[in-house]
Amino acid sequence: MLDGTALPLYALDRDGNCTFANAACAHALGYAHPGELVGKHMHALIHHTHADGSEYPHEQCRIFRAFRRGRDIQVDSEVLWRADGSFFPAEYWARPIVRNAEVVGCVVTFLDVTTQRRAAERWRQSEAQNKELIENSSQGIFIVKDWRLLFANTAFAKMLGHSSTDDLLGLQFSLDPLFPPKERSRLSAYHTARFAGAAAPARYECRALRKDGSELLLENTERLVNWQGKTAIQISSIDIGKYKRTEQELTRAKDVAEMASRAKSNFLASISHEIRTLMTTMIGVTDLLAETELNEQQLRWMRSFNTAGEQLMALVNDVIDLSKIEAAKLDLDHVAFPLRRLVRETMEMMRSAAEARALSLHCVFGPDVDETLIGDANRLRQVLTNLLSNATKFTERGRIEIRVRRDRRSPRPGKLLFSVMDTGIGISKSKQKDIFAIYNRGDAAVEGKYSGSGLGLAICRQLVEAMDGRMWVVSETGRGSTFFFTAQFDVAEPVDNDEATKRRHRTRPAKPRRRLRSPSARCACCWSRIAPRYDSSWRRF
Ligand code: ADP
Repeated sequence: MLDGTALPLYALDRDGNCTFANAACAHALGYAHPGELVGKHMHALIHHTHADGSEYPHEQCRIFRAFRRGRDIQVDSEVLWRADGSFFPAEYWARPIVRNAEVVGCVVTFLDVTTQRRAAERWRQSEAQNKELIENSSQGIFIVKDWRLLFANTAFAKMLGHSSTDDLLGLQFSLDPLFPPKERSRLSAYHTARFAGAAAPARYECRALRKDGSELLLENTERLVNWQGKTAIQISSIDIGKYKRTEQELTRAKDVAEMASRAKSNFLASISHEIRTLMTTMIGVTDLLAETELNEQQLRWMRSFNTAGEQLMALVNDVIDLSKIEAAKLDLDHVAFPLRRLVRETMEMMRSAAEARALSLHCVFGPDVDETLIGDANRLRQVLTNLLSNATKFTERGRIEIRVRRDRRSPRPGKLLFSVMDTGIGISKSKQKDIFAIYNRGDAAVEGKYSGSGLGLAICRQLVEAMDGRMWVVSETGRGSTFFFTAQFDVAEPVDNDEATKRRHRTRPAKPRRRLRSPSARCACCWSRIAPRYDSSWRRF
């Protein structure tokens, strides 16, 4: 029966010779058959040397000494040797065999504990690594249970102004000295809830106390862990006081910078308004002068004066727009308007300038474009005017074409895609990416033959973005450009055309007078850049 047991086992006589060994014992010691062990002196065979290679004399053998004294023994710190000369860590039990009140030998059972030892060693190493990681962490880490401090790393001790973890743990382990009274009940409620499996914040901010009594602000992250066989709470803490202070300083600095920028924008806008008022008067006077008797030379000077005035006016208007946008004072209208008419009218304003260069103007509407939209018609007109005015300026011959259709990439009705195409000088690839930046004049600046401020496209892009859209360009040097933009409108029932016309006309000069050029002053509600050559007979469609 003993022979069949899986536990390795052998028996010794009083001299330490083997009287019996089972198959499991022979197998564990590397012998083919238990018979190879019987009669052998077992200490000399399997127990003769320590793990460090030093000799293990028979008289010191703990099995031998124990059974001679008639005692049981359990040992787990020695090794047993195999037939091939290798050894393994073993745990063994020896029990004396007593017959007629006399010890006649003993029975030894043993286990190869290599696997357990390796697992224990691995566990010990990973424990040591974890400890090292926790110790060297720059984050404060501490372990608590039942409002008692079980462990704290050096970073946490230092954070609270203690010289070492021993100094901190010397606080009789209660958490009370670490947190101000008002925080104690909150944190302890979190812990109770966490232990009970109820909801408790895993991350929160709280005030803590330094050794000198001063307060600091911590951000704590909590989780349940197994600490020395018991469930406990591990808390990782960061001192966020300095981050908060930096954040506050940055916010303050940003507020100051924004205030300064707003003040600058407001100043610019006020000055520009003043200039615009004076310019309007000056250009008005040239109109009046043009109605008087002038000789050819005077008329030429007047025209030069008027042209310069127009350009200055356009620049001033752009500056006002930009400062309004920067000061976030851009309010969009939400009024019904007839889209096709607006686009055609805007294009028509360009006609005389285009025809002077033999450029043909075209306008194409997709069938899916709604007739009446709700939105800011004046801003839309401003964007279109700007793009058309650029197209006219940068195109010597060929055509300019506006296309409007629904933006099929958007599920929302009323989202339109506009394009303004020309066959002009085009824009080089390298300039295209910056073309919408303020004061960027692209290739025009290089060529030096086109006037401009470099503000128009920047304003257009921001207006379009305010209308929930975007603007981009596709262009090739010498082969023309197409500016695309999308804009979101609401769709309305068709408006009463007469009423709409009346409303539009309220914003325009009631009775167009003879002018040298376009009316430079904008109407009160319209910010659009006025076409360079505006025909005073406002045509209707
Ligand atoms: P401005 O025309 O007053 O210089 P914009 O912001 O309207 O300012 O345009 C910036 C630059 O973009 C222009 O100076 C020009 O180099 C380029 N640009 C704009 N539109 C066109 C166009 N249709 N064809 C070629 N270049 C253009």
